[in-house]
Amino acid sequence: MSGNNEQLLARENEFLSSAVRIKYFDIVIQKAQGALLTDADGREYIDLLASASATNVGHCHPHVVEAIQEQAAELIQYTPAYFASGPEVESSQRLAQLAPISGPVKVAWGNSGSEVNDAIIKFARGYTGRQYIVSYTGAYHGSTYGSMSLSSVSLNMSRSMAPMLPGVVKLPFPDLHDRLPGESESEFVERMVAAFKLPFETYLPAEEVAAIVIEPIQGDGGIVKAPQAYMEFIWKFAREHGIVLAIDEVNQGMGRTGKWWSIQNFGLEPDLMTVGKSIASGLPLSALVGRAEIMDSLGSPAHAFTTAGNPVTAAAANATLDVIEQEHLLERSAKLGPKVQAYFEKKREQYDFIGDIRFYGLDGAVDIIDSKTGKGDEAATTKLIYRMFELGVIIISLRGYILRFQPPLVITDEQLQQAFDAFDQALSELAAGKLSLPED
Ligand code: PMP
Repeated sequence: MSGNNEQLLARENEFLSSAVRIKYFDIVIQKAQGALLTDADGREYIDLLASASATNVGHCHPHVVEAIQEQAAELIQYTPAYFASGPEVESSQRLAQLAPISGPVKVAWGNSGSEVNDAIIKFARGYTGRQYIVSYTGAYHGSTYGSMSLSSVSLNMSRSMAPMLPGVVKLPFPDLHDRLPGESESEFVERMVAAFKLPFETYLPAEEVAAIVIEPIQGDGGIVKAPQAYMEFIWKFAREHGIVLAIDEVNQGMGRTGKWWSIQNFGLEPDLMTVGKSIASGLPLSALVGRAEIMDSLGSPAHAFTTAGNPVTAAAANATLDVIEQEHLLERSAKLGPKVQAYFEKKREQYDFIGDIRFYGLDGAVDIIDSKTGKGDEAATTKLIYRMFELGVIIISLRGYILRFQPPLVITDEQLQQAFDAFDQALSELAAGKLSLPED
């Protein structure tokens, strides 16, 4: 059923739970192609969000659409809990071979990032026979009980739902934003390593810890990269104590950072990794990928879902992997990131409310700050993103004051330029005090 924005939004308010959506702009998306969205009134927008990094190869890529259509005509669903399908076998092999893990690798499916992050807990506990899981502040791992229990980015995601899963210990994520005045990076890492060691020295026996779960570059936490020295320390610690190293690549994988997987920016090898979002260009598919020894430790049917890994989603995954390879999207991501970083650095010379700028491929963040205090300025950020929306560019914020810059990797040079033109205007209007907060 179709309609215009206003009619559809009225019905949305009546029939859809307020729990499902983070409300930004009052539009309904009707169609999309590449990095271009069209709303229900026919208005177009450049998408700097890529459906929360779920459409890295672009919306409705023709190769992906064709693969979905062909597969849907042949076999939409037979449950992977009982029978394999050709596309499923192919995508498991491709993912296993792409994983930055040496030795035999196997794959298990989910329908969402959240489910495969739950699976980390299951497989790590089953494999090690240990109960504790270490995760991090600022992390977002999903919306099911297990993955929510690993997360701590949003109070509203756990309010009134306690108790969370037992056995999860949260450690402070080494976010360089949290440096003390005058503290160098190495001093900061030393302090974070001490904070990591403290629980192990006081109440948490390392031999009872099953896994450390980490986003090497936190996504919803603000596009924050852990320092290399910290990562190397926890890798060494985990290896020494037989702890499974599990990384969440749901947001940062699939070429987002200019490499297949964000962990490749660190040169470290995980035991388990989770993939989702862009793997099937936004169709509901996710995967836990890991060392075969761990992946075979639970036996059947410890991780069976009726639809996870079904033929249509698997065909979409294979086509998505084709596009990344054939269109050299890792290279494109790696090339465009520095270009956007340079654009904002130039703007920072003009505007002192632009703070830290960090891009790892087309995985970018720009902090909007109060120039007097240096702290994040949520009001200014809100004004900016709503003005960008009026100018036809969809961009949202993280933590209230961080611009999240994650467009489809196929965004064209012209579209990027249009986005810069809109920023030129919105930033100058913000500086001139011409922007106001949206009503209600
Ligand atoms: N992990 C990370 C790092 C994510 O960013 C997200 C989604 N924002 C998830 C897991 C959860 O994925 P899903 O919404 O598909 O359950």
